[in-house]
Amino acid sequence: MNIEKTLENLRKNNMAAYFVENKNEALGLIKELMAKGETVSVGGSVTLGEAGVLDLLRSGDYNFLDRYKEGLTREEVTRVFKESFFADTYLTSSNAITEEGELYNVDGNANRVAAMLFGPKSVIVLAGKNKIVGSLKEAEKRVKTVAAPKNVKRLSMKTYCSEKGFCMGADDEKMCAGCQSEDRICASYTVMARQRIKDRVKVIIVNEELGY
Ligand code: SF4
Repeated sequence: MNIEKTLENLRKNNMAAYFVENKNEALGLIKELMAKGETVSVGGSVTLGEAGVLDLLRSGDYNFLDRYKEGLTREEVTRVFKESFFADTYLTSSNAITEEGELYNVDGNANRVAAMLFGPKSVIVLAGKNKIVGSLKEAEKRVKTVAAPKNVKRLSMKTYCSEKGFCMGADDEKMCAGCQSEDRICASYTVMARQRIKDRVKVIIVNEELGY
């Protein structure tokens, strides 16, 4: 994995790119990238929880549109997803980051990828170095064999990969091969390449393993 090359190519693709040693440094940087009082929201991400970002957003310093708030109905969560388009800052991770400076993500609901692509003024992507891959082909493989199986397990969904630990289409050349389950979380596939708005997307790569 070539971190330097990844950072360089993210910048070529009009994304701000940062490299930090650990979660604490990442948290400090995130504080610098957001203004107190602004409206913030998050995409579903284990990385954000592990790095303490959710605690930071709940500190009272921000207007946090908290999709995880206890007692929210499905309709209220959906409303949070829609309101997130108007957030000042949207925080998330990425399923994979290629050394060519591309962000590759696969969503079930698509609320996360939709807000990454359009809406919030600023998008902060926090990712451990384990998310870096050589190419989009490797990114597809990473989702099918690492990210999706672990996520469906976390979300208690019933799919082939939640039982076997890998996608039934893992060796299929087709990007969207896989199961026919109602619980399938692989529905919308996005690649963010060169951005039109310079530095709207800010990618922080941490020199640690975070999330999956
Ligand atoms: S298509 Fe189905 S089996 Fe394959 S990774 Fe996605 S949820 Fe798992």
